[in-house]
Amino acid sequence: MSRAFNFCAGPAALPEAVLRQAQEELLDFRGTGMSVMEMSHRDQVVVELARRAEQDLRDLLGISDDYAVLFLHGGASTQFAMVPLNLLGDNGKADYVNTGQWSSKAIKEARRYGDINVAASSEDRNFSYVPPQADWTLSADADYVHYCPNETIGGLEFDFIPEVDKPLVADMSSTILSRPLDVNRFGLIYAGAQKNIGPAGITLVIVRRDLLGRAGDSVPAMLNYQIHADNDSMYNTPPTFAWYLAGLVFQWLKEQGGLTAMAAINERKAKRLYDFIDASDFYGNPVAKANRSWMNVPFVLADSSLDKDFLAEAGAAGLHNLKGHRSVGGMRASIYNAVPEAAVEALVAFMADFEKRHG
Ligand code: PMP
Repeated sequence: MSRAFNFCAGPAALPEAVLRQAQEELLDFRGTGMSVMEMSHRDQVVVELARRAEQDLRDLLGISDDYAVLFLHGGASTQFAMVPLNLLGDNGKADYVNTGQWSSKAIKEARRYGDINVAASSEDRNFSYVPPQADWTLSADADYVHYCPNETIGGLEFDFIPEVDKPLVADMSSTILSRPLDVNRFGLIYAGAQKNIGPAGITLVIVRRDLLGRAGDSVPAMLNYQIHADNDSMYNTPPTFAWYLAGLVFQWLKEQGGLTAMAAINERKAKRLYDFIDASDFYGNPVAKANRSWMNVPFVLADSSLDKDFLAEAGAAGLHNLKGHRSVGGMRASIYNAVPEAAVEALVAFMADFEKRHG
């Protein structure tokens, strides 16, 4: 059986070793005669798996006891609502930075609940750069500051962590676990799992404990961080199988040497692709060099009439899911942790060959 080179933005490639272990354990999880999928979330086996996953994540990211780690439902999109529902206080005011489609969606959702100030935006140049913090207009009375460190569609990544005197909230869906991170700089971090964590269906929230307990009485229990923290993310039935798979991914990351090792590989993969694109007139990437994403590499063909052929020929060569987001067109190679360097090498070789034949 041969595995495809999968450049999907999410749900994305998973480490082959993780899939193989899951396969091996699928029918009989370690002598229980049952699949993890078939067990109660109150079963000691599942509780232990869940605890182990949390501990491995804490080890990988160096998360201190000052933070609760939650495994929730609803994807990152539910966090667009949960963040304001839980963190807006009497002022009802928050600052948001708009660097692309995902931060725009977060802003739109937050506006249902509060007075949202867009402190900075790079919409003027089609979200191709990160506005320097010196140009932001932050509010004195905001309850928190929200941004998206990596815009999955635009391939735009912050090259700095904002310095703010309010809790900093980050949508890290497509960058978390790509490199080491100083969690202590943040009030709250959230991420949908289906890129660097595991399969779709589970959402990670890392929240400083002093920010818990601020939700008003009208906030539904399922949307209240405090309730999830008090119940170890088992207030209701959690997505146990996705949680188990995320745990396997965390163990795999540890075996690779942790996030420092992953960062070196990820930087190399991204550089290989961007260097190739920059050296060619046939391909282009519009993002400011300092803000180019390590995880999502969008690129266009100078002659867009070749897009269809590019995708068809890439697919025939075993390179899949390279089509850019429907809203922007062009191409996008998502090169998350589980996408091996060999996939990037194969993509660059294919792009060079395609250019030779069509350029
Ligand atoms: N934020 C970012 C940065 C994303 O990339 C995505 C999904 N691609 C989302 C939010 C939405 O995530 P979900 O589909 O899990 O709601």
